[in-house]
Amino acid sequence: MSAPQSANVTVVEHPLVLHKLTHLRQKERSTSSFRSLLAEISMLLVYEATRHLPLVYESIETPLASMRAPVLDGKKVVLVNILRAGTGMLEGMLQIIPSARVGHIGLYRDPETLGAVEYYFKLPREMEDRDVIVVDPMLATGNSAVAAVDRIKTATPRSIRFLCVIAAPEGIANFQESHPDVPIFTAAVDEKLDENGYIIPGFGDAGDRLFGTK
Ligand code: URA
Repeated sequence: MSAPQSANVTVVEHPLVLHKLTHLRQKERSTSSFRSLLAEISMLLVYEATRHLPLVYESIETPLASMRAPVLDGKKVVLVNILRAGTGMLEGMLQIIPSARVGHIGLYRDPETLGAVEYYFKLPREMEDRDVIVVDPMLATGNSAVAAVDRIKTATPRSIRFLCVIAAPEGIANFQESHPDVPIFTAAVDEKLDENGYIIPGFGDAGDRLFGTK
């Protein structure tokens, strides 16, 4: 199945992704199974999110001949983990891009305002030649994603993509208002946010389900 594209949002509707997402949503899913499924979905999503990375050709020798062969252009890709739930996506993504560099941004949601408050920020050096993929399983209000990309842009990377598992329409609208230039990749766009900023139907609190903290 193809990945529909609208207004810089790619919904990765691959049957394997959709099947795994259904399992992920189920409330009786164990912590270990939730973790494995999130990692597996992340592998499939990152495959789609890296589809348009630029290539350059270099000369190599196979055992039988010389040839010009494609390799990724620029410095190593950077995965930026929005703490803490992004950690659950990182593992799967690093299996597909093992040489990726990893940045972290610590943001918590103010329970009153739902605004993003930063407590940690660390990126690799020489960001100008790097492509960034920002990861967080949920694009809910969009406040954390907007704040994370605001900060990452100060390091002027070559490109930025945002990767999540479920997006809310409100989160997409908020994110695109601030960052229309940053493509979003998601497995699903759900119905709405509830009054606490949770995605409906969603899969609950991603961090709690991932780390078994509820
Ligand atoms: N964060 C989560 O973990 N779940 C939601 O539904 C929304 C934000």
